[in-house]
Amino acid sequence: RSNDVTPVFRKAASFSDRIALRDTLGSYTYANLFLSAKELSKEIDKELKGKINEQVLFLCPNDANYVITQWAIWMSGHTAVPMTSLHPQSMLEYYAKDCNSKLLVTTPEYSELMHKVAKTHNKNLYVLDEQLRQNSTQKIVQNQSDLEDGQSTDFYNKKNAMILYTSGTTGNPKGVVLTHKSIVSQITTLVEAWKWTPNDVILHVLPLHHVHGIVNALLCPLYVGAKCNMLPKYDSNAVWSWLLAVNASPDDRKITVFMAVPTIYSKLIEEYDRVFSKDPKMTEYIRMTLKTKMRLMVSGSAPLPMNVYEKWLDITGHRLLERYGMTEIGMCLSHEYDSERKPGYVGVPLPGVTVRLGQPPEEDEGDFTTLVEATNNNGNVQIKMNHSLTFTEDPVGEILVKSDGIFKEYYNRPEATENEFTTGKWFKTGDICQYSQESKLFKLLGRSSVDIIKTGGYKVSALEIETKLLDHPDIVDCVVVGVRDEKWGEIVGTIVVIKPEKEMTVETLQTWAKNKMAAYNVPRLLKIVDAIPKNAMGKANKKELVQKLFP
Ligand code: ATP
Ligand code: MG
Repeated sequence: RSNDVTPVFRKAASFSDRIALRDTLGSYTYANLFLSAKELSKEIDKELKGKINEQVLFLCPNDANYVITQWAIWMSGHTAVPMTSLHPQSMLEYYAKDCNSKLLVTTPEYSELMHKVAKTHNKNLYVLDEQLRQNSTQKIVQNQSDLEDGQSTDFYNKKNAMILYTSGTTGNPKGVVLTHKSIVSQITTLVEAWKWTPNDVILHVLPLHHVHGIVNALLCPLYVGAKCNMLPKYDSNAVWSWLLAVNASPDDRKITVFMAVPTIYSKLIEEYDRVFSKDPKMTEYIRMTLKTKMRLMVSGSAPLPMNVYEKWLDITGHRLLERYGMTEIGMCLSHEYDSERKPGYVGVPLPGVTVRLGQPPEEDEGDFTTLVEATNNNGNVQIKMNHSLTFTEDPVGEILVKSDGIFKEYYNRPEATENEFTTGKWFKTGDICQYSQESKLFKLLGRSSVDIIKTGGYKVSALEIETKLLDHPDIVDCVVVGVRDEKWGEIVGTIVVIKPEKEMTVETLQTWAKNKMAAYNVPRLLKIVDAIPKNAMGKANKKELVQKLFP
């Protein structure tokens, strides 16, 4: 890999006349997007009086305006801070202040909201011209220099490209600073591992403020000259229509890749059950169509329940590829494209990524003890157990990571940044994992802060219990939490959604659970709720839930 980075929009320029994107308005070539971004970048230069290295926060719908704005911010030498319309006004205000943004950019549909946000902190707001996106498709390349942005390679080499906020699952979201270099590294890793080609077409349905929607599902295809079909917002019915190419033009029939969070797959399954499942011809058609036209369906960002994996396989013939990643490190562990995908596991390190399972030093002195180290060099995965230790069972430890894709720092939080690295400069993910010596795959047990429940000397994985509970015929959704207890330290609490007209008490649940799991895993507390609140990425905030439901 070369030391010079080619930022995404420059790479994109080389695909000039290929179709890059399709939204509700129509299709855009790579040149269309590049030329419009260049035009907008001049406006941003004016707004910021030619300064560079500012944070520009932007809120655009999932359409060409999003890409044009992101690229324009980059061309002007600034850091793009993407927002989603799923954020309420108060959160937008928090982000605008936290990243010290001097300029906010938005589209007419959000201008009223963003005016309010801008006003609270005295920021400048630039509202995109409605014509920008429309005129974009008419833009033609006249000279080769039209597709240049006028900066040197050096200019972008060390530059910050984005601040992405973490999902806020365990506290206030933190601004993660990513350079062009780290983003490009994250992209090339995924392009290699998941075999992106210019012939791919992705159906994009994810929010665009998070690494999953931005890097995995948008920048990867744009980096290789593939095509991205963007839906304005998530809608199960629309997704099924697209997947099955109902009413599509020949050009739109070809979708090869789909990526989503587990909650989206659950919603698609619900919709399938409601609309198609009773029609055998239709179910056969769906299986045949998806099996032949799609090459990859990915799940990640939250644990994929086993029953969702199985049901999806049943409906589509596709084994969902589950991967594990984080805003701070990009994608980290993934099943290999051509290997068996074992449900419940998250695979092995991606190319260019090295992980360790480590045990923290006692009394916070010294470094972590490595239990196992795994690395992937150009697709060759190597795993080394620490032979100075004896393992009576598969090793369990915190995931520590090194890779070129890792973030630079938390914005304006030097202490937090320092705390997240070991003395040997490994990034501490806070996620606990087990390495299976038999399958040679890693299995996530959950976050050390909320998912590892310490009860009477045992360490229990909330994720493992959740997986088992989802097998209960009456449980629709569930969350397992540790609840403080004087005698046991913590006890296992469950928050469940049950099927309509069913009943459940903690006793009936325990009777069911007793021969399905170890005694210390059996839930001790039960709360039945109508729905489990989840954030934009489909994750439950367990700390908040415990405070509210088990005060
Ligand atoms: P915050 O850091 O603000 O609390 P967050 O950690 O949820 O929020 P993200 O960076 O979006 O923010 O998410 C990364 C986390 O998501 C990981 O640390 C891990 O706990 C979880 N995660 C990612 N992929 C998976 C997966 N396949 N299975 C289970 N958990 C996953
Ligand atoms: Mg986190």
